[in-house]
Amino acid sequence: MKIEDPKLVAAIRELGNDLERGTSLAELTYLGIGGTTDLIRIHRHEAIPDLLNLLDSQGISHRFLGGGSNLLVVDGELPFVVVQLAKPSDEVLIDGNIAAIDAAADLGRTVTFCAKHNLGGMEGLIGVPGTVGGALRMNAGAYGTQIGSYVREVKVYRAAARRIEILKGDQISFEYRHTSFAPDDMMLSVKLELPSKPFSEILQGIRICNEKRRASQPLGQKSAGCIFKNPPGASAGRMIDELGLKGFSVGDARVSDRHANFFVNAGKASASDMLALIANVRERVRGAYGVTLENEVVVWNA
Ligand SMILES: Cc1cc2nc3c(=O)[nH]c(=O)nc-3n(C[C@H](O)[C@H](O)[C@H](O)COP(=O)(O)OP(=O)(O)OC[C@H]3O[C@@H](n4cnc5c(N)ncnc54)[C@H](O)[C@@H]3O)c2cc1C
Repeated sequence: MKIEDPKLVAAIRELGNDLERGTSLAELTYLGIGGTTDLIRIHRHEAIPDLLNLLDSQGISHRFLGGGSNLLVVDGELPFVVVQLAKPSDEVLIDGNIAAIDAAADLGRTVTFCAKHNLGGMEGLIGVPGTVGGALRMNAGAYGTQIGSYVREVKVYRAAARRIEILKGDQISFEYRHTSFAPDDMMLSVKLELPSKPFSEILQGIRICNEKRRASQPLGQKSAGCIFKNPPGASAGRMIDELGLKGFSVGDARVSDRHANFFVNAGKASASDMLALIANVRERVRGAYGVTLENEVVVWNA
């Protein structure tokens, strides 16, 4: 979508936002798939209610982009604009056991920054790409750790109330790759309460998790991590592997040879290739196991 009206363009910029025209989502997502649209980069949280009211008043829909590591975006001219938080200069502030973190901060860098201040607990999240905001939205987790366990409070733009609020950790429920935030709420910053640990101990935990990831995941290839959530008590990857589907492909969209729940863009895969592969694998798993796999990857359809 291209924002045509010069007055609207000026109003968006006057609120302190950057407007980038014709941005390719293929370049902003880890899968390397997706069409083009205008992108609004937000520098001041306080400008968000006015910005979104402005877009709504013009009938322009928006999607919220974090680091793009869990997204499959359709091809072509997209019928929505994309909004993203700009990276602030101070991403993380430490006060005792509390780390106050901007949602635009890179999750991996945050884990190591906290480690250097002898704050641990998040070692398992070291290899999860993307932003802290994206991790909160998805309740990202790995190797027995999930970010929700450490949340003390979240500053969030509540879409229904159209204002910014602070929610305490016990007002939010964090489940497996799911949270109680409304779909159009926007996480702006978070305070995590982290256990004290010596740096050397945290570093050892980080090294172990990095090694496990390197041994089991196609890290050099374009992917969005796990495509499907694990059904209760089962492993989606194991089921797909047992069906002999590693290497199975539609166009350049391929089930990874290393990890059957990672689907990779092995060249110039289109969104339709990847969606067809997802639908095909889901159908085969349903036929063989009677289980309908649910997407973990977030799909931005037209
Ligand atoms: C190689 C690889 C390994 C991975 N391993 C793991 C893993 O071990 N565990 C795991 O949980 N995930 C894993 N993932 C998936 C992904 O990294 C996580 O889901 C990550 O937390 C997504 O963050 P993001 O900022 O990239 O979000 P995006 O991909 O940009 O967005 C994902 C969703 O979150 C929403 N969103 C993003 N930021 C915000 C915000 N601030 N406020 C509101 N909504 C927001 C978006 O609108 C979208 O709906 C992996 C991905 C890759 C590529």
